[in-house]
Amino acid sequence: MTRVALIAHDEKKPDLIEFAQNHEEQLREYELIATGTTGKRLMEATDLEIERKESGPLGGDMMIGAEVAEEKLDGVVFLRDPLRAQPHEPDISALLRICDVRDTALATNLASAEFLIEGLAD
Ligand code: PGA
Repeated sequence: MTRVALIAHDEKKPDLIEFAQNHEEQLREYELIATGTTGKRLMEATDLEIERKESGPLGGDMMIGAEVAEEKLDGVVFLRDPLRAQPHEPDISALLRICDVRDTALATNLASAEFLIEGLAD
């Protein structure tokens, strides 16, 4: 089954929630994982089943990066906040890097997330 990770920094969580609501039918076809708070917020706002990892600052990005390294993930939607520094910047860079190393589809904004979600559909 196609496995997709969803992550959003705090300022971007409303955008990701709206995106998930608009694409709920499509996302239901995928196995979904998310960082802790993102997953919680998404499950409150939709009927999607999401496997929650740790919160991003507590290692959640690294847990998702590990799945990328193990080639368990088909795509990552990561709505980063480009305007604010994050305490876990090294983890964020590591996740972006491993997606490139493993050639795993990565979307860091809504426009590319649309392509990713549609592109992974059978
Ligand atoms: P969160 O983590 O979903 O637990 O807020 C996201 C992040 O900061 O990477």
